[in-house]
Amino acid sequence: MTTERLLLELRAVSKSFGHTEVLQRIDLAVRDGEFITILGPSGSGKTTILRMIGGFESPSSGEILLDGADISALPINKRPFNTVFQDYALFPHMTVAANVGYGLKVRGVKNAEIDARVGEALQLVALREFAGRFPAQLSGGQRQRVALARAIICRPRLILLDEPLAALDVELRHQMQSFLKDIQREIKTTFLFVTHDQEEAIAMADRICVMNNGHIQQLGSAHEVYYRPASEFVARFFGDNN
Ligand code: ADP
Repeated sequence: MTTERLLLELRAVSKSFGHTEVLQRIDLAVRDGEFITILGPSGSGKTTILRMIGGFESPSSGEILLDGADISALPINKRPFNTVFQDYALFPHMTVAANVGYGLKVRGVKNAEIDARVGEALQLVALREFAGRFPAQLSGGQRQRVALARAIICRPRLILLDEPLAALDVELRHQMQSFLKDIQREIKTTFLFVTHDQEEAIAMADRICVMNNGHIQQLGSAHEVYYRPASEFVARFFGDNN
């Protein structure tokens, strides 16, 4: 459930690689518990936003605030976020349970607690009976669910998803979309979900952040961006696929 409380804020965040500015003074306020999709064409800066929030890149200027406090100095492993990338690499030599519990193990959590939490996380992604299997024995969709279980087991405040469904076929994508929404309702965590697919963004989001060329063009509900586009770009971007 979305509250009005802000979890995360980007204030005038810019990012340059060399002399090229790929994000220009981005302002974005994410409410606690909401599902935001970041939508835009390839190269518009979506991944770079996610990578800065996750701590994989630093902003060239501007601030990223969590609960109102600047997190720019927080190392990746201290940020209460977890990231799932498109290639969601699982360790091939480890069982599903070991893959899911890995993050807790490296944090020194006791085995009994790891077992209990792995069980809970696998229950959430409906894979409890697959705990002893290896990744090669799973379908693409099941592997993706293992990656998701691995992300939620540390109970992050925010889950960052970078095109997590892009490698799946259409039917499986649709299944995973509703699956992800169900999980979000269950665990009530905030999700930031990057996609270049308009339909996917509309299907999943509480709010859609439409990007082009390093700028946020519009942030609003699916209804707002679709029926009241704030710019010609937004109108055309949604129009192209109708
Ligand atoms: P999107 O996720 O929307 O496809 P990205 O955030 O990946 O866009 O990239 C935005 C722009 O930044 C692109 O022009 C890309 O080439 C450039 N870019 C991204 N990462 C790097 C990097 N590490 N070094 C140089 N340029 C980069």
